[in-house]
Amino acid sequence: MTMTENAIIGCLLGTAVGDALGLPCEGLSRGRQARLFPDIRRYHFLFGRGMVSDDTEHTVIVAQALMESSGDLALFPQHLARRLRRWLWTLPAGVGKATLLACLRLSVGVPPDRSGVFSAGNGPAMRSALLGLCCPEDPKKLRALVKASTRLTHTDPKAEWGALAVALAASLDSRPGNVRPQDYLTWLQASLEPEAGELIGLVQRAVASACAGESADAFSDALGLQRGVSGYVYHTVPVVIQTWLRHQEDFECGLTEIIRCGGDTDTTAAILGGLIGACVGKAGIPPPLLDGLWEWPHSVEWMERLGRRLAAAMETGQPAAPPPAHSGFLRNLLFLFVVLAHGFRRLLPPYEI
Ligand SMILES: [Mg+2]
Repeated sequence: MTMTENAIIGCLLGTAVGDALGLPCEGLSRGRQARLFPDIRRYHFLFGRGMVSDDTEHTVIVAQALMESSGDLALFPQHLARRLRRWLWTLPAGVGKATLLACLRLSVGVPPDRSGVFSAGNGPAMRSALLGLCCPEDPKKLRALVKASTRLTHTDPKAEWGALAVALAASLDSRPGNVRPQDYLTWLQASLEPEAGELIGLVQRAVASACAGESADAFSDALGLQRGVSGYVYHTVPVVIQTWLRHQEDFECGLTEIIRCGGDTDTTAAILGGLIGACVGKAGIPPPLLDGLWEWPHSVEWMERLGRRLAAAMETGQPAAPPPAHSGFLRNLLFLFVVLAHGFRRLLPPYEI
């Protein structure tokens, strides 16, 4: 297996496992989460099994669009838009507002370069790690792919800068050895324009905090996120980066820490899981968490197949067909039912003390 293949498969599976672990805790305060789920190293979604949400589905859609376009800058947004349009009609639960509006706009014929809405949500960041793995040696192309992926749904430049910060982290992840925090910061500063100064400042704080060995919740407290890490990209990305810099090779510790910060836990854990997964590969993800995923049509085996084909397509530079999969409509109906059941479960004790 090549390093790229190992990193792509690890990123896909790490995203899925992080998403599934974080999902039952999404939107809960830290205290309530700890009361309801004292052990977050295992799944709590459906009888001890895990299912994934939009974070993983978008990452899969990006992988498929990259393969079909072989990373061509004109074709990639067309394929991504077509797949996002189709995805919306499978009735996915828990879609972010900006993504929902943009997908509706795409569905009524608005072209991909005008479908995005002004939002700085973390949607584009949650699907951008794979982009970093697919063109690690070409910063200009990476920037253009991140821009194309972001603008389809989100037009606030903050969303694009946050997505680029994640993609750059993944691109460094695919190289041998751990990433030094200062190297990441230097790389990010060189890649962003001066208007992105606020994000640079936040990442500088994340780097300083990681170097000082602060925990993720201490860092998110320092950012004023005691009530949880929100879906605002300037909240999500610094906390993910701080945790990733400290746990680049420890999947379980990293994921546990970031979920305990509360808030948009499926997305924070999905992005972090993708970054750590890219570094450690499938072998570094605890086997019980891979075995415990209950997914169809995007099973663990299917995602591995997707990762292998994507790595091959990126190597040859030729478009390729993703492995076939059903639409997932029936799966999404079941998923919606379980999400609603979790909503009702939250009305019952134990409550936060
Ligand atoms: Mg989600």
